[in-house]
Amino acid sequence: MAIGNMKTQDYIAREDKFGAHNYHPLPVVLERGEGPFVWDIEGKRYFDFLAAYSAINQGHCHPKIVNALVEQAKKLTLTSRAFHNNVLGEFEEYITNYFGYDKVLPMNTGAEADETALKLARKWAYEKKKVPENKAKIIVCENNFHGRTITIISMSTDPVARKNFGPYTPGFVTIPYNDLAALKKELEDPNVAGFLVEPIQGEAGVYVPDDGYIKKAYDMCKAKNVLFIADEVQTGIARTGKLLACDHEGVRPDVLILGKAISGGVYPVSAVLADDSIMMVINPGEHGSTFGGNPVGAKVAMAALEVIKEEKLAEKAEYLGNIFRNEMKSIQSDMIGLVRGKGLLNAVVVNPKDGKEAWDVTVEMAKFGVLAKPTHQHIIRFAPPLVITEEQLREGIELIKKGFKKFQ
Ligand code: PLP
Repeated sequence: MAIGNMKTQDYIAREDKFGAHNYHPLPVVLERGEGPFVWDIEGKRYFDFLAAYSAINQGHCHPKIVNALVEQAKKLTLTSRAFHNNVLGEFEEYITNYFGYDKVLPMNTGAEADETALKLARKWAYEKKKVPENKAKIIVCENNFHGRTITIISMSTDPVARKNFGPYTPGFVTIPYNDLAALKKELEDPNVAGFLVEPIQGEAGVYVPDDGYIKKAYDMCKAKNVLFIADEVQTGIARTGKLLACDHEGVRPDVLILGKAISGGVYPVSAVLADDSIMMVINPGEHGSTFGGNPVGAKVAMAALEVIKEEKLAEKAEYLGNIFRNEMKSIQSDMIGLVRGKGLLNAVVVNPKDGKEAWDVTVEMAKFGVLAKPTHQHIIRFAPPLVITEEQLREGIELIKKGFKKFQ
């Protein structure tokens, strides 16, 4: 409900006045969510086709996950890692069995998990691979997105993410995405510690590499004793039609980075998984976070991961993703360029028309009751919660079509 006589514009104006302008949201003010839907303060219902950048794979306010949060919050919320608690070990056992690794290092955000993986790779390189001190390199890809910290933007090729935030962290080599020849060349350097890659580049605009790219890149890294580090913060947890996007090619990363949906969007939880030969290079005091692995996050993440299996969300994403792409391809609109994606991580490339761009299309869609957000100027990403039913998806697709038709 709107508070007093505050209207949508008043909420937006208040954020504008008191909040940093580091985002440019669509002009809707949401107050409630359930499954694939959110409602604004005026009671209008929307299909959420962004799902908090794939953090809400299990749907908004999933009762099992919310219940896990509430129950644990009543008992013990945070101990820091200065003491043991009775939940952390349960979570560590659960998540390592779930993904098949020896150890986990829990953090909170995706960026923190990426930073953790970078530190792990560097330390492994010095202590196990015997790279000379301060010479370790990490290969990254053009148009990557791994978060917003200084080190992470140092790996970025996006001028908006980088400009005026220098000086940058050294130690990264950038190669084009989906380019095995470039990878091969850089792997000749004996000081390479790891290759950090998104199995599908999400923020860049849902770039799906060629079939076989991930497997071949993995094999090439293995041949050179280089860690294959997969950032599955956005692609992981059933989003692309398998538990992990790397599963499409049968690749088990040496270092696996997870975030977003491992907590169903209920609480910030991220994690890095690896086997002992890698993870055990980290000793007490060398890395950590006050909130990382806290009992609330741990319980929430276990519930969120259970939901993925219980509700067969990977299979659903695979099935519904095919419907979604076929329907998008069938839209008669000269504004629709390419349609691409995997599972329920998809994008439509928008051709500008009469000065109208992807942003204008998403504003129209919002009026019809579908929320999606452009990534870059010309791409709309569509990633609804995976709990969406086929009927709901088809209803959402009809509204998306109406949005595009406004410009015909
Ligand atoms: N890695 C990838 C692949 C992402 O898509 C994102 C966020 O979109 C991140 C890392 C950063 O996650 P966070 O925003 O939780 O720091």
